[in-house]
Amino acid sequence: MGEFELIERFFKRPVSRNALGVGDDCALLSPAPGMQLAMSTDMLVEGRHFLSTVDPSRLGHKALAVNLSDLAACGAKPLAFSLALALPRADEAWLAGFSRGLFALADAHGCELVGGDTTRGPLNICITVFGEVPAGQALLRSGARAGDDVYVSGTLGDARLALEMFRGRLSVPAAVFEAARTRLEQPTPRVALGLALRGIATSAIDVSDGLLGDLGHVLRQSGVGARIETAAAAGLLAATSRVAGATPLLHADMQLELVLAGGDDYELVFTAPASARQAVQAAAAACATPVTRIGAIEAGSGLRLVLADGTPLQRRYPSFDHFA
Ligand code: ADP
Ligand code: MG
Repeated sequence: MGEFELIERFFKRPVSRNALGVGDDCALLSPAPGMQLAMSTDMLVEGRHFLSTVDPSRLGHKALAVNLSDLAACGAKPLAFSLALALPRADEAWLAGFSRGLFALADAHGCELVGGDTTRGPLNICITVFGEVPAGQALLRSGARAGDDVYVSGTLGDARLALEMFRGRLSVPAAVFEAARTRLEQPTPRVALGLALRGIATSAIDVSDGLLGDLGHVLRQSGVGARIETAAAAGLLAATSRVAGATPLLHADMQLELVLAGGDDYELVFTAPASARQAVQAAAAACATPVTRIGAIEAGSGLRLVLADGTPLQRRYPSFDHFA
């Protein structure tokens, strides 16, 4: 199978929304009048972002999911994406699985593959997504204000739990591992929530490197600080990984670390004024995505962790950094 047959068989599909898709020198996108085009790129490298043993359809899902998550964090509606792929060989079974997982998620979000590049090389997947958002309405990292509440969608920590299992550093029952592993390998981008929060949230970011690190970007870019209540945050670890029977599965410190510094969960962290609490809950209910209030934005700078009784917690929770 040659390069062009590979593209034709696995990646060329009819496109509708866009003037032109796969097959010419450029794809042509037609954003609606009054809309801004939102664009983001994320790359997945074998051995760094995924294990060579991962199921290819799950990998196809994840490669697009991490990109859709960036659109979600901006409140942008997915339109199209491009796929740059380096493959060690043209493995038909792998390509069939990969494209199946990729297009299942793409179709669920009405996001069309409009172009890309295919070359031989160490397995590497780079996707660029395009979305649209009414001009001036994108959710930004810079909009948090003192007095805003801080919220997190869904649950946090499972992806990191699965990673620690793969590394042999943690041990949990098989059913718990499977649930956590699904979160790691097939994250759910919170696209509907991002759209529902337009006009309500003052800032947003998706959690890819860890809650505290990613929230830190919002704080710096907004010129504010925050107080996070660890008891509220600890409750974010998914039920599957929290308990097995009567005894806690993980030490409380470990639970908190998974939640605060875990990464790879692709939930949204966002801020909204206290006056918008009902609107936030209504938005969350409308897209069946639970959200939890974990703290508040404060004037000044820096992030304070506080216990239920308000006493400060001194520990540091470093987030993920490829070059640290
Ligand atoms: P070029 O010579 O301009 O680099 P290519 O020969 O690399 O074009 O690609 C031919 C066509 O196939 C282009 O329209 C390109 O966008 C598309 N394409 C290449 N690889 C992929 C891929 N992995 N997924 C989707 N479209 C692809
Ligand atoms: Mg090319």
